[in-house]
Amino acid sequence: MSLSSSELEFYERQMLISSWGTEGQKKLKTAKVAVAGIGGLGCPASIYLTAVGVGKLILIDKEKFELNNLNRQILGWRKDIGKFKAEVAKEKLEALNCEVEVKSVVAEITKENVHNVIGNVDVVLDGQDNWKTRFIINEYCVTHSIPFVHAGVSALHGQMTTIVPGKGPCLRCVFPKDPPEVEKIPVLGATPALFASLQVMEAVKLITRMGKPLVGRMLFVNGEEMVFETVEVKRNVECSVCGNLQKEK
Ligand SMILES: [Zn+2]
Repeated sequence: MSLSSSELEFYERQMLISSWGTEGQKKLKTAKVAVAGIGGLGCPASIYLTAVGVGKLILIDKEKFELNNLNRQILGWRKDIGKFKAEVAKEKLEALNCEVEVKSVVAEITKENVHNVIGNVDVVLDGQDNWKTRFIINEYCVTHSIPFVHAGVSALHGQMTTIVPGKGPCLRCVFPKDPPEVEKIPVLGATPALFASLQVMEAVKLITRMGKPLVGRMLFVNGEEMVFETVEVKRNVECSVCGNLQKEK
């Protein structure tokens, strides 16, 4: 596999990063990434994943854009209200970078369809606003050994961790019981944008094998006080999702 002259120019500045180069760029070009939810997290995340040049991007969202999404879901503009988020995103992302194959999936992720909807990918990014679906994705990723970059936000706060099955805790280890669901989460658009950037950083690191991923650590951000804090999170050998996996290793 080689990179065209236009790709070499497009990605010039990131390939200057030490240990990236053409090799790192080729790894990205063969990578498949799924973005589960094209909302406040998924919109900026999918823009940066497209700009960085992943080979294939799978955008999953069942909803259409509404006016009250537009403060944070930056791929949705006024003219897109009433259109499916995944389809609008695909059109705009392809216009940004035609080298990336973008697939839009208009569906709600369920236990029954998660295999078909996400499929065989290298990384999944959490763009969800509910825990029920996050835990479905977590279980799918653990079962299929797919890294899952979790993020969740509220107002000016958020948390994230990177789950690499077999190497650290899964989401269920960290949250043995489902946290309460919030129907309408308050949110400043800049908060999911911050976390989406960090999620893409993690995805790129995992794909290019650069740096140290946020495995076994949870990053908490308090934007009101502008405090960033990382705490250790541990595997639970009794975890209902990854407990067996850990015993095998
Ligand atoms: Zn677990």
